[in-house]
Amino acid sequence: MRYSFLSLLANGLSGQSRWTPAWRDAAPKPAYDVIVVGGGGHGLATAYYLAKVHGIRNVAVLEKGVIGSGNAGRNTTIIRSNYVLPGNEPFYEWSMKLWEGLEQELNYNAMVSQRGILNLFHSDAQRDAYARRGNAMRLAGADSQLLDRKQVRAMYPFLDFDNARFPIQGGLLQARGGTARHDAVVWGYARGADRLGVDIVQNCEVTGFLREGDAIVGVETTRGAIRAGKVAVAVAGSSSRVAGMAGLRLPIESHVLQAFVSEGLKPLVDGVITFGAGHFYISQSDKGGLVFGGDVDGYNSYAQRGNLPIIEDVCESGMALMPRIGRLRLLRHWGGIMDMSMDGSPIIDRTPVPGFYLNAGWCYGGFKATPASGWCFAHLIARDAPHEVAGAFRLDRFRTGHLIDEKGVGAQPNLH
Ligand SMILES: Cc1cc2nc3c(=O)[nH]c(=O)nc-3n(C[C@H](O)[C@H](O)[C@H](O)COP(=O)(O)OP(=O)(O)OC[C@H]3O[C@@H](n4cnc5c(N)ncnc54)[C@H](O)[C@@H]3O)c2cc1C
Repeated sequence: MRYSFLSLLANGLSGQSRWTPAWRDAAPKPAYDVIVVGGGGHGLATAYYLAKVHGIRNVAVLEKGVIGSGNAGRNTTIIRSNYVLPGNEPFYEWSMKLWEGLEQELNYNAMVSQRGILNLFHSDAQRDAYARRGNAMRLAGADSQLLDRKQVRAMYPFLDFDNARFPIQGGLLQARGGTARHDAVVWGYARGADRLGVDIVQNCEVTGFLREGDAIVGVETTRGAIRAGKVAVAVAGSSSRVAGMAGLRLPIESHVLQAFVSEGLKPLVDGVITFGAGHFYISQSDKGGLVFGGDVDGYNSYAQRGNLPIIEDVCESGMALMPRIGRLRLLRHWGGIMDMSMDGSPIIDRTPVPGFYLNAGWCYGGFKATPASGWCFAHLIARDAPHEVAGAFRLDRFRTGHLIDEKGVGAQPNLH
């Protein structure tokens, strides 16, 4: 069923009884051309573009739980393309362009909201770094604007401009950045892929790989063995575990990242704001809750839940930026498992194991990458060659030294 004003009207008049499921809950077939492991945003987008752009429709997405139950449904929904390095910026700008047409492309309301993202700076050195970042963005065709303190105050008068330790001097604005409804992105890609013939198989955990010699020719799952021409893995926080089953040791650590939402408020924060003197970012959901987050837990973990020390850490940063947040009540907080790469940048590449393709290392920032990641991973799988905007995301860069150290902090996952 195509969604439109007329379909809404017809269903409204018929007591909402004619809606059909948005996608089939498929049972696995014995074999596929391509198996995508992981039903998060990246896996579903990959399957969608394989079918749509490359005409490869004999595809299954295998998800161990229900689609979107991993990081895709746990993130703080921020989208942006404010990167500085040539290995990153064209990729994220391509993602931004795909976001801009996504709802029309998928015929699905993903609530893409280009409400702007403002990165605050608090010192002369930080201003210079942001000026450089803004210039790099413009050179890559993205938008950016360096704002002074007065311009930032006009946008967000409630920030603590005269904080004794972290006075706000200005900010770098990307007006095309913003937010998108994370669940809807998952559901939109699932529906789009399903309509093109892709099987979305839920409650189907990959537990091992079928091999012929060195090559991978399928997967073992909790619902039986399934053969495949190619196996493409996009399991985010479980990347090391799944790659381990194929005998690969990845340059990735898993850490928990937490997010927080407050009680609902009247409209207050109409864009996305990031604090430049600590790790804190905030926006407001359409329901009115303030949505915010901060640092990753500093130790490796597969625990998909929050903890008290990070609540204290994140709320301290929030108070330094916006003291009135102290009067709010916290409604919920939760955690997701991040695939932290050693340079803070992702991997979209073939691996030394024939038939095994890898999409991983998204750290904090994989939600914004969802469309371009799916696009470029599908390109790699279909053509066995990297897409031009993802050519730097090679697995062997950790051996050859061609790192994409966006923040210049080196191999420190907890700092990326
Ligand atoms: C709290 C938090 C806030 C974030 N905020 C932002 C943000 O504001 N902006 C941004 O750009 N990014 C953000 N991120 C990062 C972003 O959410 C992730 O980088 C991105 O969602 C990862 O890709 P994915 O959607 O495919 O992952 P996931 O949704 O985690 O998908 C992976 C899937 O693989 C499945 N899986 C794992 N093992 C197996 C197996 N053996 N067999 C079958 N299936 C398996 C999992 O169940 C899961 O559903 C945030 C993340 C968190 C946790």
